[in-house]
Amino acid sequence: SSKQRVIIASNRLPLSVKENNGTYETTPSSGGLVSALRGLQAADYLWLGWPGIEVNDKSARESVNASLAKENAAAVWLDQKLATDHYNGFSNAILWPSLHYQSGVVMDDNAWEAYQRVNEIFADEVSNKAKDGDLIWVHDYHLFLLPRLLRKRLQAQNKRCPIGFSLHTPFTVDDFWRGVPVHDQLLEGVLGSDIIGFHTDEYKKNFLGACDTLLDGTRVENDQIHYDNRVVETGKFIVGIDYRKFADASGDHEVLSRIKELETLYKDKQVIIGVDRMDYTKGLPEKLDGFRIFLEEHPDMANKVVLIQIAVPSREDVKEYQDLEAQVSKLVGQISGKHATPHHSPLLYIHRSVSFAELAALYSISDACLLTSRRDGMNLVASEYVACQEARQGVLVLSEFTGAATFLKPGSLLFNPSNTHSLSDALYKALTMDKEERRRNYEELRNFVTTNTSAKWTETFLGELGRLKN
Ligand code: UDP
Repeated sequence: SSKQRVIIASNRLPLSVKENNGTYETTPSSGGLVSALRGLQAADYLWLGWPGIEVNDKSARESVNASLAKENAAAVWLDQKLATDHYNGFSNAILWPSLHYQSGVVMDDNAWEAYQRVNEIFADEVSNKAKDGDLIWVHDYHLFLLPRLLRKRLQAQNKRCPIGFSLHTPFTVDDFWRGVPVHDQLLEGVLGSDIIGFHTDEYKKNFLGACDTLLDGTRVENDQIHYDNRVVETGKFIVGIDYRKFADASGDHEVLSRIKELETLYKDKQVIIGVDRMDYTKGLPEKLDGFRIFLEEHPDMANKVVLIQIAVPSREDVKEYQDLEAQVSKLVGQISGKHATPHHSPLLYIHRSVSFAELAALYSISDACLLTSRRDGMNLVASEYVACQEARQGVLVLSEFTGAATFLKPGSLLFNPSNTHSLSDALYKALTMDKEERRRNYEELRNFVTTNTSAKWTETFLGELGRLKN
């Protein structure tokens, strides 16, 4: 094809590699970016990232590389300790909370060393694989330093490749970002890009503000940053889902029979669904507190509703996540303990991941979806719920601090998750909303989610990147 090849760099490959008696097997995983790229038939692409496993033996590495190559992927090899220090030590312990307005992070020099080292290793691998004219698309906060490192290497190798960067988290206001001790080096790193994409105008504006006030020698003009004798473009690129995959799920035999089963089981109840990774940014304690207040304020509802909360295990070797799990378990126990009867409990807590079929069935049978993030870059669960609701036209009850709320404001019930009463009120309103209002709201939601798909996001970003002269 005449289209330019795309090189994608992300911390993890979209594949899992497992050892099985000395041989290595790769299985593709799902996820927004993966399905978006699959939709982009014309593009020739190569995906670089850590395969999630340490392999030191040369012939074993070759065998993994061979099976990755069949999936358009290539490994960036890291040893386990370095990978953990980069991922847990710096990315998830310092950057993740900072990008989500969580204060109190403590700088760890060893983890910072590892972060820099991993970004250097990525820069070596990506620049070696890149051919003159390829488009390079770097993803997320694990690789903030990569664009700058890459630009230097590509220049030295005489390769001209436009570099794009997409951030999948929020970006904070300048004065908060200043709290990260190496904030200026991180900004300089990402400014090695030709274009930087954010999920919302707010995150973009915050980033521009941070460059303007915290980095000497920058000049910000509209959406452009003049820095180091170059111009860096920024933009809002709305990430989405593969709408058809979710909307068509009910046509699948397994999903449909599960929907029927669950509808029978809950025929006299209104179901509220919550799906979140077990992460403090998702506001699970806030959700449970709000639900507790809701049950207290509307005692007649306790035997008519059920909140099914899926909390997908995440980053379980990090202390904050272990503490959160204990806190959530306790709150769940208190609510069930108070309201459960031998016939019914208004709260079901599932601390496991579920299959796609089960997830699609749960989305489909629920009258409301309750998402309470304290901060969330976008939140794709909101869109997935909408895609599964063509028949039922359920209500989206959404924290105003999700990126999704920016776009789904018309059509959903927004609230501040730190205000348990506003959460309880929004939930009550959702469960008592009349059919006509549900229909009107649903049309707004569906319109947005069908228009802004993941495929459109990829096409738009790569379109912009391809137009840049580098
Ligand atoms: N999800 C999953 N396993 C599950 C339940 C959900 O992988 O058992 C998916 C869900 O379908 C969604 C993603 O996890 O695509 C969560 O994405 P979101 O943007 O809402 O939040 P993130 O986890 O990226 O912060």
